[in-house]
This record gives sequence, C-alpha cells and structure tokens, in this order.
Amino acid sequence: MTRPAVFLDRDGTLIEERGYLSRLEDIELFPWTVDAVRALNDAGFATVVITNQAAIGRGIIDHAFLDQAHAAIDRTLAEGGARIDAYYVCPHHPEAQLSEYRVVCDCRKPQPGMILRACADLGLDPARSVMVGDRWLDVACGHAAGTRAVLLRTGHGSREAKAPPGDVNADAILNNLMEAVAWILRTCSR
Ligand SMILES: [Mg+2]
Ligand SMILES: [Zn+2]
Repeated sequence: MTRPAVFLDRDGTLIEERGYLSRLEDIELFPWTVDAVRALNDAGFATVVITNQAAIGRGIIDHAFLDQAHAAIDRTLAEGGARIDAYYVCPHHPEAQLSEYRVVCDCRKPQPGMILRACADLGLDPARSVMVGDRWLDVACGHAAGTRAVLLRTGHGSREAKAPPGDVNADAILNNLMEAVAWILRTCSR
C-alpha cells in the first residue's frame, strides 16, 4: 500500500531563508511551522523534506553540519509533537568547487530525483501527494515527479510569485505553509 506525502522545501518554506545556512543559530522556524507539520502528521501524510544544498558542493558546509541542522529542526518540531519523516538532500552543483559534487545530477530541483527516490524508498504515491516550496523550481520539481505543487509567498516566494515563468503553473499560490496545509486538507484525499 502506498501513502500520500507532502514534500516540503526547507529554506523559505519550513524555516526562514538565510542564504547558505551555515550556523545552527541562524535556523528559525516560521511561527506556524510546528502546527502545520503536526497537522500533516495527524492527517496521515508522510512529511518529507526535499532540499537543494549546493553549499555542500561549494564547501561551505558538510554533511555533518547538515545532520546537526536537521536534528535541530527535528528537536523543535518534537517539542510541539510534530515530525519530519525523512530528509532528502541534493549536494550537487554543475559548478561545485568540490569535484565529487560537480555533476549534472538527476536530483537537483527542478529535477524530480529526490521525490522519486523518496517515493520508492518509503512507498509514497506521487499522484496523491503535494510538493510545497517558495520557488518555481519547487513547483516544477513536484510536477515533474507527478505531484501537485503549491508555491508559498514566504522566503523567495513573494518575489517569485510576481515573476511566473511561462512554462510552470502552481496548483495554488498561498501565503505560507499553514495556508498550504489547509488547502491540502481540503483538496487531497488520503
Ligand atoms: Mg526554498
Ligand atoms: Zn543532486
């Protein structure tokens, strides 16, 4: 049996956009993030973070820092009874300074590789799932993987919403993750 999921961009979606986040003290969840994630948990959606982290390929952060950052997010969520089920990270960039990450991969959003991998690993059904993010590449990634896709106006989203690319259309453009959760609960069957 496959489950529906909500795939969540990290920066600008779950937490404040801080450019290349490289200090744990810069992690700041939005005021509604814990409640929004818990509502998705309670409704039976898998919650999976899908994040481009070219900062790894650029040598700005390493995987150990990323693990610490995600553990910090998890601790804050857990205090409010909320949970991320899995994190998928693309460390690559075609011009990465570190040669092992300097590739044109299938996982850097807008490519759908991370979502497809999560669906295979965790038994998730893209057709009943939604990708949520603050950039058009998040929307394009979701659609390429066969999910619905919501653009948020948090993070880069207010700027992005004003400059829609010709070839990408969001299923909804909403103010923040809490509005997206309300939309998902209304729109998606579980
Ligand atoms: Mg983002
Ligand atoms: Zn990648």
